[in-house]
Amino acid sequence: MTNIILFGPPGAGKGTQAERIRDNYNFLHISTGDVFRYNIKNETELGQRAKSFIDRGELVPDDVTIKMLAGEIEKADDKNGIIFDGFPRTKAQADALDDLLNEQNEKIDALVSLNVDDEILIGRLKERGKTSGRKDDADENVIKNRIQVYYTETEIVKDHYKQQGKLHQVDGVGSVQDITKRLNNVIDQLI
Ligand code: AMP
Repeated sequence: MTNIILFGPPGAGKGTQAERIRDNYNFLHISTGDVFRYNIKNETELGQRAKSFIDRGELVPDDVTIKMLAGEIEKADDKNGIIFDGFPRTKAQADALDDLLNEQNEKIDALVSLNVDDEILIGRLKERGKTSGRKDDADENVIKNRIQVYYTETEIVKDHYKQQGKLHQVDGVGSVQDITKRLNNVIDQLI
């Protein structure tokens, strides 16, 4: 399998591009944000634990998130790989992911970082908030907090994979199609 982390701040386009990668390459797409939102909508215990953090734009605690992720990875059986979208977001999550994959003789092949300036991110998220129905897109303070959390807690994950020679940087500004092409160029070298 080819296992790729699609990385970047909120609004970088991870979700949109991960869906296209899923379809192009027959990968399993794991979006931890989507799994949390599904659980909130269905009022599960996991959803109840995650909701207050998500509404404030903070990270859901690592133990909750890692346990959930372990369950999702098991669904990759008939796929060519996994595209991780929104995970890992902390160093502890990155270590846990490496261990989980290692247990299955798998590994992360690349972290692909989508680079987008903050002003563009804020604009995109405010625009998305008009239609996404996401509470965390509807409030500019929450949007700014999510971007802040990315810099203080999440960006460090890049270094973890950079040290392993697995970091790839892609310009995340442009049309959806152009960005897909840039990502495909990177992924085609990995498979
Ligand atoms: P996203 O859909 O990736 O923007 O995630 C929405 C929200 O879900 C985030 O702001 C966090 O509150 C929570 N979340 C998603 N993925 C994670 C993760 N890997 N670790 C902690 N919290 C997460």
